[in-house]
Amino acid sequence: MRILIVEDEESLAIRIQKILQSEKYTADIALDGDEGLEQALVEPYDLVILDVMLPGVSGFDILKALRDEGITVPVLMLTAKTRVEDKVTGLDLGADDYLTKPFAVPELLARVRSLLRRMSDARSTVINVSNLQIDTATRQVKKEGKDINLTSKEFAILEFLLYNQNHVVSRMSIAEHIWGDNLDLFTMTNFVDVHIKNLRKKIGDDRELIKTIRGVGYMLKDDQ
Ligand code: CA
Repeated sequence: MRILIVEDEESLAIRIQKILQSEKYTADIALDGDEGLEQALVEPYDLVILDVMLPGVSGFDILKALRDEGITVPVLMLTAKTRVEDKVTGLDLGADDYLTKPFAVPELLARVRSLLRRMSDARSTVINVSNLQIDTATRQVKKEGKDINLTSKEFAILEFLLYNQNHVVSRMSIAEHIWGDNLDLFTMTNFVDVHIKNLRKKIGDDRELIKTIRGVGYMLKDDQ
């Protein structure tokens, strides 16, 4: 699951990003309205956390532009004050929920989870593949009913491979999905290999669910 945070208050944006990452979500940041709008239009996000008051294009303008383009990504608006008119405007424009600043961490996470669950209910949250049960809403993985503890990166990689089942995914695109485009992706591809190795060990990949495609990347394929 990939989340975009559009928030001009950098320390708050980073705090939200860290919270989401600790919950195994991939989170990108846009620090102004123009950047936020561009990213939200181009990248396939599962959720956008959108501040109302932004330099440049406002949060309302971004929301309106997304809906006008037919982009139905769930949007959680952040309103600075308990201004009723802001909430009403946001909901009228197609926001899915709003949160008033300052907010508590558990509250933010609860809203995020509920929005993601609402969205993924349509496509069932528990996905069975081979002998694994992967819950994309609660971020839990089980093997034959037993919990497997994955790190946030391992889960994100498994989920990404799962959504691309039977398709070869390059190491570069895995790196880009997991770390966003802010890092040296050539270096990060080595980390992809490390995470895949650990992931295989944890799921006890005796059935070779995750296949190495030499010189290209990886593919999740269930042969059973
Ligand atoms: Ca702001």
